[in-house]
Amino acid sequence: MIGFVLLVDVAAIAGSAWSFLHLPVSPGDAVPFAILIASAVLYTELSRPVERVRERFAGTPHISLDSVWTFAAVLLVHPGLAALVIAVSFFYRWFRGQPNPLFRRTFSMSATVLAGFAASAFLTRYAVPFDVLPRDVRSFGVVVAAGGVFLLVNTVLMTVAVYYGTPHDRLRDAMAKPFEYALEAATIALGVVVAWALRDWPVVLLLIVGITLVLHRGVLLRQLKRQARSDAKTGLLNAKAWRDAATDELDRARRAGRHTSLLMLDVDRFKKINDRHGHLVGDRYLAAIAETLRTEVRGTDLVGRFGGEEFVVLLPGTPAVHAHAIAERIRSSIANRGGLPEHVTVSIGLADRPGVTDLDDLIAVADRALYEAKATGRNRTSGYQVTG
Ligand code: GH3
Ligand code: MG
Ligand code: MG
Repeated sequence: MIGFVLLVDVAAIAGSAWSFLHLPVSPGDAVPFAILIASAVLYTELSRPVERVRERFAGTPHISLDSVWTFAAVLLVHPGLAALVIAVSFFYRWFRGQPNPLFRRTFSMSATVLAGFAASAFLTRYAVPFDVLPRDVRSFGVVVAAGGVFLLVNTVLMTVAVYYGTPHDRLRDAMAKPFEYALEAATIALGVVVAWALRDWPVVLLLIVGITLVLHRGVLLRQLKRQARSDAKTGLLNAKAWRDAATDELDRARRAGRHTSLLMLDVDRFKKINDRHGHLVGDRYLAAIAETLRTEVRGTDLVGRFGGEEFVVLLPGTPAVHAHAIAERIRSSIANRGGLPEHVTVSIGLADRPGVTDLDDLIAVADRALYEAKATGRNRTSGYQVTG
């Protein structure tokens, strides 16, 4: 893993050195180079108020909007100069207070530099330089494809590093969210517009700075909204967000005449776990259980943290007989989960009344079933009689 990170860093430096030694720098690159560096620095300054809010409330994300300037540099200037634009935009943001470690920043920068080289090589292979590129559909296709190469190489390098650098069960968890890739693609697209403007009408850049700032605020708003809905310890829906979503879902199910089941889970003898290992280890159990719940149900099911060590799962379109099978799968998956000081089990109550469509009534039924599961020995699912 350290080898991979160093390799990417060294390749980025060696590639930049090679490009300066072997590819001529055209004097015409000086002005766009200077403007792009200035834009990256100016943009970092203008977006600082937004970034400050994000650092305080929404944590550091995968994403940045710097491709607006960096991909424009890849299209317009010598690959070594483009690498410099990338380096300045990464380090200036870091220097102005983005709180992640220097080695990570260096790696993301190197990955972006290599992605820029790949995109430059692609462009050189399939098109003439950007300033003399005919403004036709084929050239447009090549430029968009180069943007795709830029995104793809960057994504592959970052995903490998995140996947092997931090513990992840699934590759999908090491990747950014679809929305983040869409955002990255949008900023690369804006990079094309920046390159075009720089050649034909540079003052249009002012509009693009404005557009990017609005986009940036929109992203922050989205992150804050998501954070307000999620439970910090487990990443699941918090009690209120779950209740709102479950109420909507039950309304929909009632109108469509679909059956909806509810599971309520409570960790068995959790107090003992806390007493034996401490509350911080207890919290790791809660996170592990949440992770199991997420992997065991469909994306359309609603998983929430109801209270301390109680979880709820609403299963739209699922009759009780299926919900019972799902509950048993969840229960055995939690009981067999490794990686923690000792095994833990859960008891599950299942609401199995087809006629009940009010959320509170459904919760009351599941709660009673849960109580029964506890009273009859724990580590079991109650609330649906399996016959035959
Ligand atoms: P059982 O449900 O099987 O009857 O026993 P229990 O020990 O799990 O039940 P009880 O309701 O007595 O205890 C629940 C425990 O959950 C007590 C509390 O310290 C712990 N707990 C609740 N919320 C959290 C939390 O966020 N983190 C940690 N570490 N523990 C929590
Ligand atoms: Mg409890
Ligand atoms: Mg408990």
